[in-house]
Amino acid sequence: MRFTLQENKLKLSTSTDPNSTTIAALTHIPQPEINPNYPFSQNLQHFLQGRMLLHDELPFPKEQLHEHYENGYIHYHKGISIEKGKPVCTRCGNSTRHHFAAFSCARCGEKECLYCRHCIMMGRVSSCTPLLSWAGPAAHLSGTAALKWDGTLSQGQAHASKKVTEAIQANGELLVWAVCGAGKTEVLFAGIAAALAQGKRVCIATPRTDVVLELSPRLQAVFPGIKVAALYGGSEERNENSVLTISTTHQLFRFHEAFDTIIIDEVDAFPFSADRSLQHAAQKARKNSSALISLSATPNEKWQNECKKGNRPFVTIPGRYHRHPLPVPEMKWCGDWEKTLKRGKLPLIVETWITKRLTEKTPALLFLPKIELMEVLLPYMKTFDERIEAVHAEDPQRKEKVQRMRNKETPLLVTTTILERGVTFPGVDVAVLGAEDRIFTESALVQIAGRAGRSSSQPNGNITFFHYGKTNAMNKAYRQITNMNKEAFEKGLIDYVLPGMRN
Ligand SMILES: [Zn+2]
Ligand SMILES: [Zn+2]
Repeated sequence: MRFTLQENKLKLSTSTDPNSTTIAALTHIPQPEINPNYPFSQNLQHFLQGRMLLHDELPFPKEQLHEHYENGYIHYHKGISIEKGKPVCTRCGNSTRHHFAAFSCARCGEKECLYCRHCIMMGRVSSCTPLLSWAGPAAHLSGTAALKWDGTLSQGQAHASKKVTEAIQANGELLVWAVCGAGKTEVLFAGIAAALAQGKRVCIATPRTDVVLELSPRLQAVFPGIKVAALYGGSEERNENSVLTISTTHQLFRFHEAFDTIIIDEVDAFPFSADRSLQHAAQKARKNSSALISLSATPNEKWQNECKKGNRPFVTIPGRYHRHPLPVPEMKWCGDWEKTLKRGKLPLIVETWITKRLTEKTPALLFLPKIELMEVLLPYMKTFDERIEAVHAEDPQRKEKVQRMRNKETPLLVTTTILERGVTFPGVDVAVLGAEDRIFTESALVQIAGRAGRSSSQPNGNITFFHYGKTNAMNKAYRQITNMNKEAFEKGLIDYVLPGMRN
C-alpha cells in the first residue's frame, strides 16, 4: 500500500498518485496525538491490544483502521526497516540478507518490493506493508484470578515457587532448573496468581504444541475464574486476548509489548534454542518492564556457566517429587556397533540387555541416532518379539505407537530422539545405542535418562549408554545427574543415596 504525507499525518493513497510513497521510504512515521473525543472501536481495541499485525490479519476495513491512526489510536510500524544499510524484519527480527527476496508488487506498484522469507508462513511482511499496533488505552480483560488448587508442593518446589513469585513481582528474570520429574508446572501457580491479582497479563510459551494442549486444561482448572487462551498454529482461539495465555513460541510473533510476565518452558528445546527469531519474538512480546521466567531440566552449557559464575539468577529443584534419586546411567562399550548392525545383527551385550527386559517383562526404550539404522534393525529385533515397534519424528503412526507402548502392548520401542522429552512410561528401562553420536548432546542424554524412574511406584530404572568410545557429552550428562542427586540429598529433598553417590 502507499501513503501521502499531509500536515504531518499519513493519508491513504494509491499507486497512481505521483506524490505517494511506501512506508519504507519514509524517514519518520508521524504519530498523531490521541483524540480523547474520538469514539474508538472497542472491538478493535480488544482485538489489537498487545499485538502487532498485518492488515490481512485484521478483520476491519483499512479506512476504519486508518481513521484510528489519524486519531492517535493506532501505530503504524515499517514491516521492514533499514538499519545500518541492512534490511531488518520488524516481526521476526530477521536481518540475514539471503532471507529477504524482492518481487514485483501489485500492492505498492514497485518492481522491487522487498519481503521477509523467514516469517512468510504467517503472511507476507514486505517493504510496503505496515504492521499495526494499538496505541490507545488498554481494555480491561475480565475474570477473577483466584487460584483453586489444593495440592501440596514438595520442599524443593515450595522454595522455587517462592523465588518465581518474587521474580514476577519484581519484574525480574529467573531460570528454574528443575530435574525431569520435579513437577515444574505447580511451581508456577502462586506466581501466576500473584501476577493476575495485580492485573498483570501472563503468557506461558513453549516450543511444542503438545505442551500447549496438555497445559491449557490444567491451568484452566486451577484458574476457573478466567478464560485461558490456548494459541498454536491453527487453533481457534488465535485471536483471543486473555489475562493468561498458553502459546507456542511461534505464535509470539504476533505480539507486541503484551505481557507483564513471560514464562518460557523448555527454553533449551528445539526450535526455540536454535532460532534467534523466536527469541526476538519473546522479547518483542514482553512489556518494557516485565518478568521473564525460564524453565529447563537441561540448560545449555552457556547458561550453566552463567549460573555458576553468578551472572544468571536461577533456582534449582534437584530432587524429584517422589523423593527418590534420579537413576544414574551405566556406560557400556559395545564395539563398532554400526558395522554389526549393517550385518543385520546387534552387539552381544546389547542383545543380552534386550533379552533380559523381554524375559522380565520390563518395558523398554531403545534410542538410536539415525532413522536408517532403525529401519535396518527392526526386522532383526522382531525375531526377539514380534510386537517390537520403531517410531520416528515423521512417522504418521507416531501417536498410535506411543499409545500402544503406554498400554503395554508393545514390550520394547525403538526410537530416535523425538521421545527424549515429554513422554512417561511407568517402570521403563532405557538404553541408547551409539551414545557417542553427535546428536546425543549432554542435554539430550539427560532428557533421555529422565524418562526412567518417573512414577513413585517404580522410582528406579536402568539406563545404559552403549557406546564405541565415550564422549564429553556422555561424561557431562553423567556428572549433571550425579550432581543433582548429591545436591538433592544435601538439601534433604530425597530420602536416600544410590551406591557410590556419597563420594
Ligand atoms: Zn509492495
Ligand atoms: Zn520476518
